Amino acid sequence: MASLTRLATQVRGCRQCPRLVACREVDRGPAYWARPVPGFGDPRARLLVVGLAPGANGANRTGRVFTGDASGELLFGALHRAGFANQPTSTSRDDGLVLTDVYVTNIVKCVPPANQPSRAEVARCSSFFERELSLLPDVRVVLAVGAVAWHGFARDRVSPRPAFAHGATVAVGNRVLVGTYHVSRYNQNTGRITASMLDDILARVRTLIGRGRSRRVAP
Ligand code: SF4
Repeated sequence: MASLTRLATQVRGCRQCPRLVACREVDRGPAYWARPVPGFGDPRARLLVVGLAPGANGANRTGRVFTGDASGELLFGALHRAGFANQPTSTSRDDGLVLTDVYVTNIVKCVPPANQPSRAEVARCSSFFERELSLLPDVRVVLAVGAVAWHGFARDRVSPRPAFAHGATVAVGNRVLVGTYHVSRYNQNTGRITASMLDDILARVRTLIGRGRSRRVAP
């Protein structure tokens, strides 16, 4: 845990990508976090949820991954129903949310313009992600939220590169990579992703990692 905390401190102080530093700090008002956003959750997690990057008005505003926007509402609502979270909402860094058996992070720690980091930016920030992963030795399932996170995780680990699909699974060493459509507001509004679709994915994840260590939520 101390190492994850140390890593988070290093991430928060990073300014290696001039374009992303400018994007995260662009005049968003004093209430914005506007710094890199490290992952958070249970250091003994068997499930790792991986997104691409902080949301401009979500994590880049609140300072916590998938917090303060529609993406977080859908994701943490589903994690709560599946027994991985003590509450269904994620609104701020001090909202009392506690995760059990899951750690949530992004491959890129700073919000990119138009949600599109360059290859060089992804490669640069991947060193932080790889260090996070190495500090989470119990992870058995990696849930990639969206195609870019899927390919970001599979790259350099699986050959040939596996095709992304909602519900796709692929073995990666002693872990399983599972894909879900992104939980963005746009995907929710178009019906591409729904709460029940995410519930189904997490039910499958639960089967893959086995029972135990979760807080079961009354139906
Ligand atoms: S994207 Fe990653 S490497 Fe680039 S400035 Fe942000 S934290 Fe640093």
